[in-house]
Amino acid sequence: MSISKGIALITGSAQGIGRSIALRLARDGFDVALNDLPTKSPQLESVATEIESIGRQVCVVPADVTVNEQVKEMVGDAVTKLGGLDVMVANAGVVTVASLISSSVESWDHTSAVNARGPYLCYKYAAMQMIDQGRGGRIIGASSVVGKMAFPYSCSYAASKFAVRGLTQVAALELGKYGITVNAYAPGGIQTPMTKDMMDESGKADFEGLIDDPVSREWITSLLENVPIKHVGQPEDIASIVSYLASKEAHFITGQCISVDGGISMT
Ligand code: NAD
Repeated sequence: MSISKGIALITGSAQGIGRSIALRLARDGFDVALNDLPTKSPQLESVATEIESIGRQVCVVPADVTVNEQVKEMVGDAVTKLGGLDVMVANAGVVTVASLISSSVESWDHTSAVNARGPYLCYKYAAMQMIDQGRGGRIIGASSVVGKMAFPYSCSYAASKFAVRGLTQVAALELGKYGITVNAYAPGGIQTPMTKDMMDESGKADFEGLIDDPVSREWITSLLENVPIKHVGQPEDIASIVSYLASKEAHFITGQCISVDGGISMT
């Protein structure tokens, strides 16, 4: 086994983008702590087996990222099992598609709790550990193209992903003096279990059955069909920017939210 580049914890890594980030960071030389909800433990174990075969140390730390005590314990367990924490990727997220008028308070609260409170808790406990260690660190969160520009039928999701950008900027300002950088990624449409009901196999937007208003449906479809780069986004496209942000080379980049969306958002 080669010398470890450090220890990374990735939330929501049983599938999709999180799984791809975990595998990429393991290939980069990091030992990896894998988190997802306890119900996803079988998938987490299977990702752990893949990481072992790459030759890196791995542990599984299931937890619900919306629960303060569980996030604290998750970080503590990863540190005990792997010996520290150098990279936190607060990736876990959920999507809700509903109009402002038809959406419920319950779905607003759940989406906010997973997508905004989750990263807040992950950033906080990771920062405390990294400051204690005194060797800097990398904190990276999941925003979205919908965290940069509004899409119809996305009120709770957009608000939570805009929140990740605000959180990331505040944390970057406060943690820079400890050598900790804090950044976010903003994916466009990426083929994962999250988007399986929103795009077909060829990557074409398909919101039939999800959005009842034809004008809103047409708005999103036309936006996604006119992406400058003709490519169906894959989890590895996101893992690649996370790999860079987690690297030593990226030490002078902080407070940023980097779009990986084929050019949908250019702000
Ligand atoms: P996904 O649904 O495939 O995977 C998300 C994972 O998060 C799941 O395994 C799920 O169990 C886990 N999770 C959900 N709630 C959790 C909780 N409370 N505690 C711990 N884990 C929890 O989604 P994905 O497409 O891989 O998305 C990953 C991240 O990227 C999300 O934050 C998402 O909002 C964001 N994103 C995705 C896309 C896309 O097109 N796929 C676009 C923009 C942003």
